[in-house]
Amino acid sequence: GQPRPPAEPLTPRDVFIAVKTTRKFHRARLDLLLETWISRHKEMTFIFTDGDDEELARHTGNVVNTNCSAAHSRQALSCKMAVEYDRFIQSGRKWFCHVDDDNYVNLRALLRLLASFPHTQDVYIGKPSLDRPIQATERVSENKVRPVHFWFATGGAGFCISRGLALKMSPWASGGHFLSTAERIRLPDDCTIGYIVEALLGVPLLRSGLFHSHLENLQQVPTSELHEQVTLSYGMFENKRNAVHVKGPFSVEADPSRFRSVHCRLYPDTPWCPRNTVF
Ligand code: UDP
Ligand code: MN
Repeated sequence: GQPRPPAEPLTPRDVFIAVKTTRKFHRARLDLLLETWISRHKEMTFIFTDGDDEELARHTGNVVNTNCSAAHSRQALSCKMAVEYDRFIQSGRKWFCHVDDDNYVNLRALLRLLASFPHTQDVYIGKPSLDRPIQATERVSENKVRPVHFWFATGGAGFCISRGLALKMSPWASGGHFLSTAERIRLPDDCTIGYIVEALLGVPLLRSGLFHSHLENLQQVPTSELHEQVTLSYGMFENKRNAVHVKGPFSVEADPSRFRSVHCRLYPDTPWCPRNTVF
């Protein structure tokens, strides 16, 4: 839809973007992000990982070793989200955004979107991963459970939370509370965020079609509207390679994620983008 007029001016330093990664993906995934979107605003982006890496530290000072386990377990992922949340609160910034290491963030579109909301109000924005609320079982005491249902934004498409809302989440999200909250419903980190925001605080998820994960057919994102999208992704979907469709300047073989090609469209002045190419 039409972007709403800005409610408040925003600068890159008002936004805290947490990128979730793991040691084994530093070269395979993170280097691509550092060369593309992260390079444009290093001060916005914080990398949450689980192992030290001198090469990564040379590229950016904003690396947080969470000391969480490198396993792809519910607990390990919630451990990272908990650290992301605490670091955001400490940062004093206006907006918290979470993305995975297979997301491209269009920083101009993100700032435009966030500027249309007051950060002091309750804002939770992203893309629901299901077409209906998730049904869960909430442990309310030692031997009592009850059904609960809520919407949540899929972490693989990225989502954002205003500072006003993040502060209200503190009893369930700060310090060690995020992990115990996650254990109450035994669901992954992004579901736990939805549980705290929708089920416990009663704040509805704002759906945005501008966030994209590789669990949707990315070929359907119109090339003419790429500059308006807030996040993109790449990966596998229904056993096929899934990436956005964009013509050049790099071939699919040279740039399978299409992130380099997207980046050259958004920032044609980038030194490694071919000059004077019509695409
Ligand atoms: N990830 C992680 N620890 C792991 C495996 C993955 O922190 O042991 C992160 C990964 O870096 C990415 C996110 O979790 O940011 C999702 O991982 P992936 O894209 O591999 O899985 P999927 O999108 O299929 O859930
Ligand atoms: Mn993924």
